[in-house]
Parts: sequence; structure tokens; C-alpha cells
Amino acid sequence: MKIICIGKNYADHAKELNSAVPAEPVFFLKPDTSLLQQGHPFYFPDFTQNLHHEIEIVLKVGKMGKHIDPKFALSYISGVSIGIDFTARDLQEKAKNKGLPWEIAKAFDNAAVIAPEFIPLEQAGDLGILKFHLNVNGNTVQQGDAAEMVFDIPTIISYVSRFITLKTGDLIYTGTPAGVGPVKVGDVLEGFLGEKKMFELKIN
Ligand code: MG
Repeated sequence: MKIICIGKNYADHAKELNSAVPAEPVFFLKPDTSLLQQGHPFYFPDFTQNLHHEIEIVLKVGKMGKHIDPKFALSYISGVSIGIDFTARDLQEKAKNKGLPWEIAKAFDNAAVIAPEFIPLEQAGDLGILKFHLNVNGNTVQQGDAAEMVFDIPTIISYVSRFITLKTGDLIYTGTPAGVGPVKVGDVLEGFLGEKKMFELKIN
């Protein structure tokens, strides 16, 4: 499986990174080794001094597809959940400034956290208005609403599938809202989809 991540998909987040809102979707990949296995501890990596949380709606691909029409895009999704696109912001800034790829900042082991449960599409309601948030040590630090995406979910699926075949089990991280920030050892992160708590993660 592969992990596809959409970048700068909320205007307020692009702004906090001093970036322009893109005219077309921006995406990058994380390898399967970046997925934190369920039940495994998360350790603060030794190569960064500025590890940021990015809470995101995550889609699971339910069937293979290429050149998907936005009209049919949701039929390629089997479930929805939330996760964290961990980012070594210091390494990312360095790479960006040199015009280099960002993999060391985004694709490292355990950089993709996913809740254990996916809500089946039939039970998820309207994906266009999904709300989600992240608490760190009990305080809400990021709040998102799919209605505020720059590119909505059908557009993302259609766009990515023009370039890359989607396969069953692939994950699509759909971008993070404003409020990204550093985590430190001892922090407890809790992700919510609507009011439902989906995961809890301790930084070790
Ligand atoms: Mg992200």
C-alpha cells in the first residue's frame, strides 16, 4: 500500500506557513514503513528539534482506480478516519529553502499515525462537512471542517488518480487545518472525528 498526502489544502494553514494557496492540488507520498503500527509506541525521532503535528481526515481506498471522474470518486473510498501527518518542520524548511524534496521531513518511519478504526463510508455522513479536531494534553489545538478544504475530496481523488493508480488499501491524508505546532516528549495527543475520539497517542 501507499500513503498519499495532500499539502496546503486549507487556506488558513497555507497562510501560517507563509505559503500561497495552490492553484491545483499538491500531493506527496509516504512509504508503507512510515505507518505507525497499531499498539506500537511512538518515539520522538532523534533527527529533528521541531516535530509538528498535522491532524488530517484520512480516506481508505476501497478499489483500484485510475482517471477517476469526480462524480464517481466517493465509490472508490471504503472508509474515513483521522490521523497525523507528522512533519519534521526544521528539516522541511531546510529542504524547501534549497528547493529539495521533503522526504526526510515527512516520510520517515512512524511519520503517519492512523486511528485504529475507519468509519464505513455509508455511516460517515456527508464527507463534505466532516468536522475534526486534535487535543494536545487536553487542549484543542487544531480544528478542521472538510467544508473548508481548498480542494474537496472528490477533486483530490480525481486529480491524484490522473497520475497514480489508486489501489485497495491505499490511504489518502487530505491536508491539515491551521494550528500545527511542535510536540514534545510526554505530550498526549487525542484525535476526534466529530465528537468521537478516534485515537490517543503519547510521545515517548
Ligand atoms: Mg499534512
